[in-house]
Amino acid sequence: MHSQKWIVIKKVFMKFQNFLMEKINVWHMHLQNYNKDSGRHIVANTNIRRGDILFIEKAFIFAPVFKENKEFYSFKCYNCLKDIISSVPCKFCTVCVYCDENCRDVSWKKCHKWECKGMQASIWFDLGIAFPAFKAMLKGASLGFHTVESNYDEDLKCFGDKHDNYRYFNRLLSNIYKNKNVAPYIVMAAIVISYLEKYTDFFPWFLKQPNCPKKDLDSLIKYVGGLITKHIAQLACNSSTIEHWTSSSFICDTIVVKALEDIPQNEEIFNCYGIDYRGMIREQRQYACRKLYHFECKCIICSDPANELDMLDSYLCPKCKGLVPEINNTVLSFCINCGEKYHLKPFRKINTEAQKYMESDSPNQLELLVKSLKIREKILYKHHKDFEEVYYRLYSFYVEHGDAENMFKYFHLWLENEKARRGSNSRGIGTKLYEAALAILHCLQNGQPKNCTNLKAFLQNVEFMIKEAKVILNLYYPAYITNRLNRKIQFISTK
Ligand SMILES: [Zn+2]
Ligand SMILES: [Zn+2]
Ligand SMILES: [Zn+2]
Ligand SMILES: [Zn+2]
Repeated sequence: MHSQKWIVIKKVFMKFQNFLMEKINVWHMHLQNYNKDSGRHIVANTNIRRGDILFIEKAFIFAPVFKENKEFYSFKCYNCLKDIISSVPCKFCTVCVYCDENCRDVSWKKCHKWECKGMQASIWFDLGIAFPAFKAMLKGASLGFHTVESNYDEDLKCFGDKHDNYRYFNRLLSNIYKNKNVAPYIVMAAIVISYLEKYTDFFPWFLKQPNCPKKDLDSLIKYVGGLITKHIAQLACNSSTIEHWTSSSFICDTIVVKALEDIPQNEEIFNCYGIDYRGMIREQRQYACRKLYHFECKCIICSDPANELDMLDSYLCPKCKGLVPEINNTVLSFCINCGEKYHLKPFRKINTEAQKYMESDSPNQLELLVKSLKIREKILYKHHKDFEEVYYRLYSFYVEHGDAENMFKYFHLWLENEKARRGSNSRGIGTKLYEAALAILHCLQNGQPKNCTNLKAFLQNVEFMIKEAKVILNLYYPAYITNRLNRKIQFISTK
């Protein structure tokens, strides 16, 4: 499936009692706290286990924001984000399609009548985040632009009002005064305004509405332009992006948020802002947090360089087995344990040789793979990225040859490396665990398995792998999908 980029507004989750009123289910209630260091934050008021649902929430607004994702229109209802089997297109632009006529009519009334012309001219895709900001403004227009006094308690009262949540949205932090360059926001808002003025009857229509906040056209235009600018800034730091439908936690337009790890009672609950240490170095992350969210990140990884992922790609100190970090564009490094200085060239040379063994297509594949592995074990830290391929190829070799015990051994070495590098909850790990468990089972079922001394213990190991796969996949998929794995477990236990 193509990568998708959508912006969905996530209301900062705060007063959970109100969720219930909005038919949003919350399984674990949390106290909402404030202190100078963390600002607003939430705390678990019960022990939470990995995989527990924290909250389920319907999006306030959503919109596609990238040109290259135009094809999404053919498989998602533009009104409710349901997958489409037979679609009903918009009568005018034919770009937007719906799951049925009702969705089409609702969408038209709600917003599409004002955006359809722009859809025909493809302007929205060039406006990026201004598009959802415009849609938020339309929502405000239909509700009367209510604002809430800048009062924390009032904020909480309005949050989760299913008839008028715009009041709450309108109060979200925009950080607009901390932002050094708001000019692009203003330009984008101005384009939306001139589009509305030239190609739609939005302003004349709105002036006639009983809840119109201004009496004359000029001041209404200025007012709406200001709101769109503010909404762009609010969305920049309060929205979530769906990049891949298959791996996102959204079901249609509703997000399901689960705990990725156990959280003891009274501990703060954290949310990843998408600036992942697995994909960015420290400086990039700190810069992104400052620029997008206007704070200094003091997370566990940011506060201690030894936690950084690139430390995993270290060599081993020949003297003390401490880490000698690989540093790009330099030839010198040192052991962070004993301080010994090293030239990196010899390490790099040995590692390149090890790689050559893997790439050879000699018939002695196994021998060469083991040779490559042995060399690397001497010079590379165990979580180094270059172990990934060699472990996986050894595992695949034994899958082909039906050797259960070696399959198990190399899969687990691969798994340990992968967990260190991608986190033990990564979806890929869940899928691979499941696949490997089935491969091993398959091998055991095929008559007399090679190299399997204790069948019972072995089956227990496989059962454990499937259980772990299920726990991980549960974080990403609804239960009805992961329940299929249950049948495999039952199958094993009856054997
Ligand atoms: Zn629909
Ligand atoms: Zn249309
Ligand atoms: Zn951090
Ligand atoms: Zn050392």
